[in-house]
Amino acid sequence: MEENSNCHITGAEWEIMRVVWANEEVTSKFVSEVLGEKMNWKHATVKTLLNRLLEKEVLKKREKGNKYIYYTEYKEQEIAKQYVMETFNRICRTKVGNMITELIENNVLSFKDLENISKAVEEKRKTAVEKIPCDCLPGQCNCPEHQHEKKKGKCCSE
Ligand SMILES: [Zn+2]
Repeated sequence: MEENSNCHITGAEWEIMRVVWANEEVTSKFVSEVLGEKMNWKHATVKTLLNRLLEKEVLKKREKGNKYIYYTEYKEQEIAKQYVMETFNRICRTKVGNMITELIENNVLSFKDLENISKAVEEKRKTAVEKIPCDCLPGQCNCPEHQHEKKKGKCCSE
């Protein structure tokens, strides 16, 4: 997915994908039945979204009788992970830790989740650093180490 920027799945398309993942194979009629009311979509809207996902090659289709069956070879977990990673890649490295803390604080987690997180934290402690260097482009970040470059009025990277 990452190598193909064309593959970006919009919020509306994601709703469709969730139906596909939950049911493995769907018809446009089935998707309409599941989402029509919630999303206030006409059948034509569902068909348009399915076609877009076909164009992006996230979905595939085959004929069965006189109707099309839509399915995907992508796993929900994989794609969701890619999206999360993509988002984290967009923020300054120095701010990732805070973001992770907020994610933990703002989500309902099971004892098992917490156990796994604790293990990951302990493991990470072995390679932790005192200070994370910011590798943002000067002018795209207001990290202290970029402040003096701003004052100089130059965008020089060392
Ligand atoms: Zn930065």
